[in-house]
Amino acid sequence: MPALFLSSAGQKMVNKEQARRCFRRENADDETRVRAGSPRKQMWRGLIRNRPNFTDFMNQKIDRAAWLKGGHAECNIPAQRQAYPQRLVLLGAPGVGKGTQAELLSARLGACHLSTGDIFRAAKTLTECDRTPTMTSALDFMRRGDLVPDKTVLDLLIERSKCLRCGGGFLLDGFPRTVAQAEALQKCLKENDIQLGAVLSYDMPLERIVSRLSGRRTCPACKAVYHVETRPPKVKGVCDSCGTALHQREDDRPESVRVRMEVYEKSTAPLADFYARHQLLVSVSAEGTPEEIFSRTMEALGRRQSEHAASKP
Ligand code: AMP
Repeated sequence: MPALFLSSAGQKMVNKEQARRCFRRENADDETRVRAGSPRKQMWRGLIRNRPNFTDFMNQKIDRAAWLKGGHAECNIPAQRQAYPQRLVLLGAPGVGKGTQAELLSARLGACHLSTGDIFRAAKTLTECDRTPTMTSALDFMRRGDLVPDKTVLDLLIERSKCLRCGGGFLLDGFPRTVAQAEALQKCLKENDIQLGAVLSYDMPLERIVSRLSGRRTCPACKAVYHVETRPPKVKGVCDSCGTALHQREDDRPESVRVRMEVYEKSTAPLADFYARHQLLVSVSAEGTPEEIFSRTMEALGRRQSEHAASKP
C-alpha cells in the first residue's frame, strides 16, 4: 500500500505527490514574496520565524544513502532542491552537540546532513569481507579515538562529491578535521563552482565536553541521543522513541575520549583560525538546551546574511 500523508492543515490523507503539491500551494505566498525582491532576506526572516519546510511537513528524513554508501548509491528520499541552498560547515569539539544541531538545521533548511563519522559507523555494520582493507584500517583509528588519515577521508569525500552539488545544500559535520582537509575541501568546492555560506563554530569549555561525552548514550536504530544525567531516557537504557537498547559509542569510552580531546586541540582547533581568515567563521555558544543553541544558530546565520547583503555594493 502506498504511503499516505496528512496535509499540513491536518485534514485529509493524501499521497506523496498530492502532499508535495499541497505544500507548494500552502506556501505559494512565501514563494511569491521570495521572487518579489530582497529574496534572501525574506527567506531568512521566514526561517528564523519557524516556518516549516517541506522536509518537516513530510515528516520524512532525507535518507543520505548516496553519502553513507558512496559509489553509485542514490538517495531514496533525496533532499528537495532549494531556491537558496545552504552550504555550511559545522565545527566544534566532539560532544558539543554538532550532530544534534545538524539534524535540526537539516529539518529547517532542507539541506543534507553530511557526517564523515556516520560513513565510518555505517561501514562498521558491514561484515569484514564486505569492507575494503582501507576501511577496516580506518575503523581501527576510529576505535582508538584517533583521526583517520587525511588521504582516506579525502578519497571518501571525492567519491561523494555529488553530495556537495546537491540542490538541497549541505551541512558538513566532522569534516574538515585538519587544515589539510580544509584546504582540500576549498579546492574541491572551487572545482565544482560551489561557495561555502558559513562555518559554524560551536564553543564550549573542554571539561564540560568530557563529561557530556562520557555520559552520552545513543540509539543504534533511530540515532536518538541521550545523556545518563542530563537527558536520561524514561526507562534506563532503552530508547524512548523506538524501544531499542541504548549503547555507548566505542569512541565515547573514557580512554578514547582522552585521545579525541588531544587530537581535537592539536588538529581541529586551528581550523577556527583558518576559516576566520577566510571570513567564514560564525561562533555560536554551545551551552544550553538543543533548542536554545538552535535558535542562537539561526539568529547568527540571519545576522551574517544581513551583514553580507549590506557589505555588497
Ligand atoms: P565523529 O562522529 O565526527 O565524532 O567521528 C567519529 C570518528 O570518526 C572520529 O573520532 C575519527 O576517528 C573518525 N573521523 C570522522 N571524521 C573524520 C575526519 N574528517 N578526519 C579524520 N577522522 C575522522
